[in-house]
Amino acid sequence: MVRSIRDLDITNKKVFIRCDFNVPLDEFSNITDDRRVRSAIPTIKYCMDHNCAVILASHLGRPKGVYEEKYSLAPVQKRLQRLLDRDVVLASDVTGKDALEKASNLSNGEVLLLENLRFDKSETKNDEQFAKALADMADIYINDAFGVCHRAHASVEAITHFFDASTSAAGFLLQKEVEFSKNLLRRPTRPFVAVVGGSKVSGKLQALINLLPRVDKLVIGGGMAFTFLKAQGLDVGNSLVEDELIDEASKVMSEAKKLGVKIYLPVDVVIAQTCSQDATIKFVTVQEIPKGWMGLDIGPATSRLFREALADAQTILWNGPMGVFELEKFSKGSLKMSHVIAEAHATTVVGGGDTADVVARAGDADEMTFISTGGGASLELIEGKELPGVKPLNTESSEE
Ligand code: AMP
Repeated sequence: MVRSIRDLDITNKKVFIRCDFNVPLDEFSNITDDRRVRSAIPTIKYCMDHNCAVILASHLGRPKGVYEEKYSLAPVQKRLQRLLDRDVVLASDVTGKDALEKASNLSNGEVLLLENLRFDKSETKNDEQFAKALADMADIYINDAFGVCHRAHASVEAITHFFDASTSAAGFLLQKEVEFSKNLLRRPTRPFVAVVGGSKVSGKLQALINLLPRVDKLVIGGGMAFTFLKAQGLDVGNSLVEDELIDEASKVMSEAKKLGVKIYLPVDVVIAQTCSQDATIKFVTVQEIPKGWMGLDIGPATSRLFREALADAQTILWNGPMGVFELEKFSKGSLKMSHVIAEAHATTVVGGGDTADVVARAGDADEMTFISTGGGASLELIEGKELPGVKPLNTESSEE
């Protein structure tokens, strides 16, 4: 188990919260989706309710270790002020004169936001000195940035060296993310079905291997399905295939057979000669993909088959779209999958940024039990990895 902010005595203390405010911005620096800012609010409010002085820190985008206006957290400061209904002070640097001065003068009940952590190249290098400068600003360290927990960065990993079990813990968002994923894999209500899609087998192979002994059924769609279909001897035309992983795909299928796990692959697909919105499309069975054509979405028969496979599921984990959902023409399979999962009488957990986008586009977000906010981090949890940002916050008894 991960230590919770509730386990710490934070009253009247100075609290440093590592948040994930890596929000999408348009060309005018307007936040186009503020979910990440909103999901940090419960932890911030909890600290406000305990009369803390709150220091918030995050990265935004990929600046090259120096100040760049387009990556400033100023838009986040404004959104935070609105959501919290109070002033939030923005420091003009990270561990420079302005930040240190503002942090040391911060009174209880006030909120300070440091500038983009990645304006200092020490952040991504997990630099101890930089981490110490951040740590020295506060009495308590809280990590609520699930999306970066798979990275050993200074504000996520090295900073924990300067706090102990009574002064560091996970915020509410991080706690929920970690416990949901761990419980899901450890104690799923059965039948447990994993639906996996997306572009490549290579990106999800480790997750598939870790899921196999835990699930009852594995539904595979998206681009990665074609490597499996080719491994079964089918000619898949120009569809996305990783030839070097055909043997691995065969191994996954034979291992599944041994374990009694049923694997469901597409039986029909939407094909086109180019991956574009104005391409001519055809619906064919997977046995009949012509030369020069590629599968870009699952077909209607596959949607029905997958719906049947999910009908008795008590737990569903979904990671990866069923087709090139970014193009409307190839989005139907993913949208239908979202509806099927949303309507299931099951615990439904959605992981990965693309899959969360599909669910939002389908209007199903409120129907899912849990939507993970971190793409890479949620995949690494499914792969069974211990995240560098979470490990130092585990309770003694939970070391595995
Ligand atoms: P991933 O990041 O591995 O989860 O993959 C997500 C991407 O997979 C999305 O951008 C989809 O467009 C892409 N994708 C899904 N199905 C296919 C397909 N049949 N062919 C090519 N790309 C696909």
